[in-house]
Amino acid sequence: MELPDKRGRFEEYGGRFAPEVLMPALEKLEKAFNEYWKNTGFRQELEYYLKEFAGRPTPLYYAKNLSEKADGARIYLKREDLVHGGAHKLNNTLGQALLARNMGKKRIIAETGAGQHGVATAIAASALGMECEVYMGTEDIERQKLNVFRMELMGGKVIPVSSGSCTLKDAINEAMRDWLTNVETTYYLIGSIVGPHPYPMIVREMQRVIGRETRKQFLEKEGSLPDAVVACVGGGSNAIGIFYEFLQDNVELIGVEAGGRGIETGEHGATLCAGTDGVLHGTYSKLLQDEYGQIKTSYSISAGLDYPGVGPELSYLLRKGRIRVTPVRDKEALEAFKLLSRSEGIIPALESSHAVYHAVKMAEDMGRDQTIIVNLSGRGDKDVFTVAKALGVKL
Ligand SMILES: *Cc1c(COP(=O)(O)O)cnc(C)c1O
Repeated sequence: MELPDKRGRFEEYGGRFAPEVLMPALEKLEKAFNEYWKNTGFRQELEYYLKEFAGRPTPLYYAKNLSEKADGARIYLKREDLVHGGAHKLNNTLGQALLARNMGKKRIIAETGAGQHGVATAIAASALGMECEVYMGTEDIERQKLNVFRMELMGGKVIPVSSGSCTLKDAINEAMRDWLTNVETTYYLIGSIVGPHPYPMIVREMQRVIGRETRKQFLEKEGSLPDAVVACVGGGSNAIGIFYEFLQDNVELIGVEAGGRGIETGEHGATLCAGTDGVLHGTYSKLLQDEYGQIKTSYSISAGLDYPGVGPELSYLLRKGRIRVTPVRDKEALEAFKLLSRSEGIIPALESSHAVYHAVKMAEDMGRDQTIIVNLSGRGDKDVFTVAKALGVKL
């Protein structure tokens, strides 16, 4: 059976843990999505924007120099870093913004931590001529000035949130409150395969384009399927996007999480590796919590992997044994960041660098007749200041 089921469950994971007053809106959204997703006109319009505006299909590039360094399996890179905006995030925001417009909504709201999802939402809203307001904690606004300015340049309005810890979780609460008040006119655009049903399903469907292209491109180039596919996991959208088309195949699927300063230090974002079951942001999944169920703060050098939750579908696939997960630490990600930049002339996002590190390690122990695909989820231009600081380089 296709999952999620009617209750939004991936067996025990997923579901719809939301306030009673939001249930009608979530049901309406589910119904609208199911209708439009089957509608050829809608799919063609989305394909138009993905091709003409976002730059799809992205290449599947054989990283010859990197492969030679690993001296083992051949490594291919799915170049989501070349999507407009610099990451896979636009696949989802374009799709949902188009859905919102078709549902007759004029206004899109989102919440953002580091600002990357906010920027991708502002891009989509601007392209489709919609209003866009992004909730962001004042702490994050201060840390991410460049992304705030980017959003504003594209007509997005950033709404500062100064409650609680003034970060992402407080911004999520405010966005929820806004949606409750303005549900008739407003679409709430979630950025990963998290949140209450139907969001994990919607975002997965929007990101599956990555895997569909990858499978076809790889078959054309190699005439067979890869041995392994590797992707980094924050909320899990780029991972499920590339994994999904390979679920039925004999292909190893590996999710790489933020090991931060090491799992044993407690300073990490490795939810699948080290988390336990519970409810966060409307869904039942693995999460980082203490023995009283209080959410722990996550940590990673890469903002996109710094999240104490994870998509319910990945928790389900892990329990089933269909995917494998592993942590990669800050230091190791930095090493891969430098390695890929130097060997291939591609500066990867720090998030993607986690996946690159693990792929190279795997490749070293494999044969030349074997192949690995890495989902290069984003480009690293946004990270150069962080990397310079970590390397002790003064700019
Ligand atoms: C946001 C982001 C991620 C993490 O999000 P997922 O939903 O896990 O894909 C990974 N890579 C990049 C470049 C990002 O911007």
